[in-house]
Amino acid sequence: MPPVIAPASSARVALWEGAGGIGVTSIPCPPPRAGEVLIRVSVATVCGCVRDAIRERRLGSWPTVLGHEGVGVVEAVGRGAEALTVDGISLAPGMRVVWARDVGCGTCGACAAGATAACAEPRELGRQAMTDTWALTGSLASHMLLPAGAALALVPAGVPDAVAAPAGCALAVAAAAIDRAGAIAGRRVVVLGAGMIGLAALAMAVEAGAASTTAVDPCAKRRRRALAFGADAALDVDARVPACDVVIDAAGGADTFVRVSGSLARGGVAVVAGARAQVPDAVVDVERLSRDGLALLGLGRPSPRHVLDAVTFLAATHAMRPWADIVSPPRGLEAVVEAVAHSGGSIARVAIAPGTPASAVTRGEPAHRP
Ligand SMILES: [Zn+2]
Ligand SMILES: [Zn+2]
Repeated sequence: MPPVIAPASSARVALWEGAGGIGVTSIPCPPPRAGEVLIRVSVATVCGCVRDAIRERRLGSWPTVLGHEGVGVVEAVGRGAEALTVDGISLAPGMRVVWARDVGCGTCGACAAGATAACAEPRELGRQAMTDTWALTGSLASHMLLPAGAALALVPAGVPDAVAAPAGCALAVAAAAIDRAGAIAGRRVVVLGAGMIGLAALAMAVEAGAASTTAVDPCAKRRRRALAFGADAALDVDARVPACDVVIDAAGGADTFVRVSGSLARGGVAVVAGARAQVPDAVVDVERLSRDGLALLGLGRPSPRHVLDAVTFLAATHAMRPWADIVSPPRGLEAVVEAVAHSGGSIARVAIAPGTPASAVTRGEPAHRP
């Protein structure tokens, strides 16, 4: 039995205050209400979405507790409604879990039909302003409050915290991209971008029986990393990409995506995962699209079951690949400012252990090397 821990009365959080920047502060930690789950965060990882949220400076998106990727332990579950994992396990204090980035509203047509990925107004962890009833919105904190309806999955024993932390965002997106691409077995797969999503997509494609896997990334260090994650080849962005059946865009620029999609064989499918900047002169060959029966697909949001797919994948294969090497040693909450400024550097993720006092922070590889 896990030790019983008295619920915390306050939480230390990385609070984004818009023009006021990011500060570490303490805020009240009320008990969860019906269906809500209070999490004690063990490790949170800083993904590109956090930086994008700040750069976009969306109106009404602050003050908020930043972050959504993470792994933690259930500290309390609100009374009056059962809180379940994606696969129907009743959540209880002491369970180690990961969670999806977005929480369906539970009332719109899509949510009513069980298609929460298409929810009209999802609650976005770490990306929307805190309210009177939901202040612990993000994972870059000692505690976070998951609203009723959040998609959680248990983390199997043996998967280290730092490896599990990105499962709810990056790995769920990769699982969704593989899912969207359809059949992978026997097909030639090209992944654009060897960041966390791209590496996960490569590894998942290998496990799914891809005939070959090729990574495309402008950075030599990231290309080497892709080979360590199972890619058969890793090419620079201007190299000729051989004929392929599946392209998964996990970070490539729009022009790279259009060019590489030119290598799709008949019946090929390209999946664009994640947000993309508009590139006005990126042109899709519509005539070829029709003639060769190609499919160009956007990803949208992952479904709750993709979080489960991600942890299931990690449980089965995490020891086969150097996941721990692409996450920084855990730092204290005060390191969030630097981590947000430099996410996207030479390691895939900066890890934050919110319970680590600043004086005990491990000094490891810096978040970014020029
Ligand atoms: Zn994310
Ligand atoms: Zn909804």
